[in-house]
Amino acid sequence: MTDPYHWLTESLTTLRQAHWYRSPQPLESPSGPEIRLEGRRLVNFASNDYLGLTQDPRLKAAAQRALEIWGTGSSGSPLLSGYGPLQAELEEKLARWKGAEAALVFSSGYLANVGTVLALVGPRDLILADEYNHSSLKRGAQLSGAKVCAYPHLDMAALSDLLEKYRAQARRCLILSDGVFSMDGDICPLPELLDLAEHYRAMALVDDAHATGVLGPAGAGSRDYFQGQGFTVPQFLQMGTLSKALGSLGGYVAGRREWIEFLRNRAATWVYSTALAPANLAAALAAVEIIQTEPEHLGKLWDNVRFLREKLTALPLARLPSQSPILGIGLPNAQSALAMSQNLRELGFFAPAIRPPTVPTSRLRLSLMTRHQPSHLQGLVNALKALSA
Ligand SMILES: *Cc1c(COP(=O)(O)O)cnc(C)c1O
Repeated sequence: MTDPYHWLTESLTTLRQAHWYRSPQPLESPSGPEIRLEGRRLVNFASNDYLGLTQDPRLKAAAQRALEIWGTGSSGSPLLSGYGPLQAELEEKLARWKGAEAALVFSSGYLANVGTVLALVGPRDLILADEYNHSSLKRGAQLSGAKVCAYPHLDMAALSDLLEKYRAQARRCLILSDGVFSMDGDICPLPELLDLAEHYRAMALVDDAHATGVLGPAGAGSRDYFQGQGFTVPQFLQMGTLSKALGSLGGYVAGRREWIEFLRNRAATWVYSTALAPANLAAALAAVEIIQTEPEHLGKLWDNVRFLREKLTALPLARLPSQSPILGIGLPNAQSALAMSQNLRELGFFAPAIRPPTVPTSRLRLSLMTRHQPSHLQGLVNALKALSA
């Protein structure tokens, strides 16, 4: 018992016993509505590539061009030598799309959240956070040393109570929420959250990883979505990723020019991490351009969402409330979620079981793409029907 790593063996055993053990499965094809996995063709309901842009020839061409001109890497952190014209252009384009004054592009969404939270708050401060927030917001909050209070999922009355109770004792206050919740697919009540933020002089950071390129008339995310419904939405910190609907890699934060200037100086995950590769930046630029000029992709995605939602409602399944292309089906425990996922797989459909510790309750998670055909969706419905009979 002298091996200092022995506890890892025990920990892995515990994970296996709880059916929490996970390992990645290498894809044998490019990602798309159909994939090959372990020698089998499967209809894929596990992709974040909502608009199918990872396979768009225009993104590939833009990435190739950038690669030819600029090379494979950025060669430095942004303040040293890694900041190039593609990053400047992308930051400008993202800011305009998001209705913000400026934006900052990080090497990943995870780094954008952790770096931003750590730059904004510290031990004398207060963080109020939705209990279902993404790991990157949670981890940032923990690391910041601020007092962290989680409020029940989407519960603005509870958020209001916490602000009333604790805001006055803290120097600064930061409210954290996903825009679209990544494991449930429901959305943050942004206008109410921002009203509370204003009333209690709190900052707000909203994570649009699954809203960027998906929500709102222009696909610009949560702010666009609520403005489209007639709300006037003030400026707040809009975070998102380039790696989901935008088909590339990287993350961003957009907001007022001074906020971004501050982050450029104080967000350690931006200052001390190598800037994105030119090919990633060029692909993201092409993606935003396509989303802005070809609204039909977004329209098709939402047609698919409406179609599947309607079909699922008719089945004896516990569909979780969702207003996005992420649809969840609640299951009683990790084992039953795994069994459902495995059975679907035998019928030719890939939909992962999401279990604790990622989420508090086990479920099957389906995410839809523009490139899903009616036959893909109807096939899934038939399979679910057979399995739930
Ligand atoms: C994917 C995701 C992130 C992380 O973004 P990456 O660019 O993949 O690092 C952050 N927040 C949410 C809600 C996400 O779903």
